[in-house]
Amino acid sequence: MPHAVSRLRAARLARSVKPFLARGGSRVERCAGCRVPVSHCLCALRPAVPTRAGVCLLMADIEPLKPSNTGWLIADVVADTFAFGWARTFVDPALLALLADPKWQPYVVFPGEFVAPERVVTDVVPVDGKRPLFVLLDATWPEARKMFRKSPYLDQLPVLSLQPEQLSRYRLRRSKHDDHLCTSEVASLCLELAGDQRAAQTLDAYLDVFTNHYLNAKHQRPIDLDDAAHQRLRALR
Ligand SMILES: [Zn+2]
Repeated sequence: MPHAVSRLRAARLARSVKPFLARGGSRVERCAGCRVPVSHCLCALRPAVPTRAGVCLLMADIEPLKPSNTGWLIADVVADTFAFGWARTFVDPALLALLADPKWQPYVVFPGEFVAPERVVTDVVPVDGKRPLFVLLDATWPEARKMFRKSPYLDQLPVLSLQPEQLSRYRLRRSKHDDHLCTSEVASLCLELAGDQRAAQTLDAYLDVFTNHYLNAKHQRPIDLDDAAHQRLRALR
């Protein structure tokens, strides 16, 4: 059964009038399971880790079509990943049902500085009988701001704001030099807050392996299954 992001991608493709051309416009054949050119397919390396938390991706229109979208990787690792396309004038009733489902404790993940302070939380506090559900806006930053502002159904949810110390520790650990975190990195930080450590680490290691395959395919270089990225992912099995 294809995962939520894969299904959203298929639905989005079916709706498009012209074929979507990945950046670079190359005609190389991509694997349907991992979106990487078949020569560099990483489907055999896809990890799955049981988690207490779930992830709900609200995706800007074009995101499911991008072969580099990392929401896909979250859906690979976390079985309870839900994905919805975002539109200003329409909300999927299944999304509203999910947010209202008493088995979940939903949080919108967004920078607290843009939100009324009384809505902001910085920790994931376990609630009896509920599992944390992280609502992630999978979009560019300007799109994410618009989505946050124009989705009244998110207004009553607590806003989980990742803290500067947590972000800088994360950057240090991952030797990241830029400020931008991609969606799977944000998910990894959220999983860590929820106590799903192994899933958090696995998602990070898997992102590195994905990036490795993606870039090597782009530059037509072979894959080294024994390099540091692959070893790290293997060690987490
Ligand atoms: Zn593949």
